[in-house]
Amino acid sequence: MEERAGYARGCGGSNLERVSLWEERAGRNEALFREVNERIEELHAARSGEEIAEFVCECADDACSERIPVPLRVYEQVRSDPRRFIIHPGHQRSELEQVVETAERFLVVEKHGAAGRVAAATDPRQ
Ligand SMILES: [Zn+2]
Repeated sequence: MEERAGYARGCGGSNLERVSLWEERAGRNEALFREVNERIEELHAARSGEEIAEFVCECADDACSERIPVPLRVYEQVRSDPRRFIIHPGHQRSELEQVVETAERFLVVEKHGAAGRVAAATDPRQ
């Protein structure tokens, strides 16, 4: 078996590494909600892009179960960028993401740093 050089895991590390692990975890969480939303969209796929579907909030809080009404057309636009997520207004975390679009019922955020890398790496459409 081939040994690959990689990151050491679970041996402490600096504060910087810990922050980045937390960011990674947040990114993974959001990626999970994104997959749920992909299923929700599939159920509506045959219908009009103007139709509004109830998506789940894709924020970093794994206890969040907020539902957000988003037009399928907007959802598709957001999904075309692996670093973008749809979240409930107020659920954004400035240390992970920046708001790129504000609507009445939802926000579109774009991940930066480690969370953005995880988001891109776990994109179900890539
Ligand atoms: Zn949320």
